[in-house]
Amino acid sequence: MEKPFALTVLTPEREFYSGTAESLTVESIDGELCILAGHIPMVAALAVGELKIKQGGKLLRAFHSEGFLEVHADATTVLLQACEWPEEIDLNRAKEAMERAEHRLEQQRNTQAVTRSKIALSRALMRIKVKTTSVN
Ligand code: ATP
Repeated sequence: MEKPFALTVLTPEREFYSGTAESLTVESIDGELCILAGHIPMVAALAVGELKIKQGGKLLRAFHSEGFLEVHADATTVLLQACEWPEEIDLNRAKEAMERAEHRLEQQRNTQAVTRSKIALSRALMRIKVKTTSVN
């Protein structure tokens, strides 16, 4: 088993996770990042994706929204706009958000508005994926 490191995952609303982890996987704006103990210190901007924490040999999965990752020698911190365990995800709400975002994308011409709708659509699709592929 890999060596554990200290991990905290925070949202504006709560401490989502506080403990140790053998590995952390998140989606950065440049692609998937996997952090293990002893990783070089770094800061990364995060996109919408799936958060995976390996803890005690078990794999925990969650939805994660946009945010930042900070890796220090003694602790790793993830700051996220939103983060939910599969059982917390409201599938109908995500489906409604997906339909709203798709509808907006058909109507909008303004670049910023299109970008916002694309990110909202990616949140909805990722919530649906995490919820429907969870064994919980
Ligand atoms: P919506 O349009 O449904 O609000 P959104 O993607 O704009 O979706 P966020 O801004 O990512 O929502 O999140 C706002 C808050 O609502 C956060 O606390 C987040 O955890 C929660 N949330 C959003 N969608 C869901 C969902 N489908 N199930 C559970 N919680 C959700």
